[in-house]
Amino acid sequence: MRDTVCVLGVNVDRVNMQSAAERAKEYIKTGGAVFTPNPEIIMKAYKSEEYKNVLNSADMVVPDGIGVVYAAKILKKPVPERVAGYDLTCNMLKYAGENDIPVYIYGGKDGIAKKAAENIEHDFGAKVCGYQHGYHKDTQFIIDEIKEKKPGIVLVCLGAPKQEMWIMENKKKFSPCLMIGAGGSADVLAGEAKRAPDIFIKMHLEWFYRLLKQPSRFFRMMVLPQFMITVLFKGDRKNA
Ligand code: UDP
Repeated sequence: MRDTVCVLGVNVDRVNMQSAAERAKEYIKTGGAVFTPNPEIIMKAYKSEEYKNVLNSADMVVPDGIGVVYAAKILKKPVPERVAGYDLTCNMLKYAGENDIPVYIYGGKDGIAKKAAENIEHDFGAKVCGYQHGYHKDTQFIIDEIKEKKPGIVLVCLGAPKQEMWIMENKKKFSPCLMIGAGGSADVLAGEAKRAPDIFIKMHLEWFYRLLKQPSRFFRMMVLPQFMITVLFKGDRKNA
């Protein structure tokens, strides 16, 4: 039985990094989809029944984004800590390196998946059995490649909602594996985008750092106050 908090209709698991990583390791053997929604993604789901159902059909939904942590607190069913999708992904890559688990990476612009694959092999010692960029119109050959190569971990980095939709549509076609909707992780793994310095992460200001680095995200980020206000006024406090 999952222990979750319902944040605007999305069931978020009340996990910390350690318990999330333990469960994710199990999914490598049993098969499982892990999503990593931040407030922007949850607002998308709040406005789309179809997308909300897709998120709720995951095996684990981790609280990525400090806004999700605050929301759970407001809803009186707090989560232990923020579990950033990128950090969970790195934990799993380290585990893959230590246990000879093949990894497949799908997503990012042309060249990004390849660079990310090289860095995964170099930095984590994990074997990357295949990679593809995220802008192919027909993805059937990617499905065939994953079926054939049987990775233990598939990172799907297509951004939301595309990555979650793709995972749910296709996961049954593959041998059991861990599939993570990993968003912009391919860009960070490729060295194309940088994670915020630790001080920003510790002060819960990673979102602010991303805004400074990419001012074009301003309009996307306007959704953050909207998310908090919606949680305050429309959040289901029966969670408690
Ligand atoms: N992307 C992709 N295919 C698409 C749309 C997006 O591979 O059709 C990639 C994009 O290149 C980027 C990632 O998906 O690497 C999404 O990045 P974003 O910063 O939006 O991720 P998020 O903030 O959702 O984690």
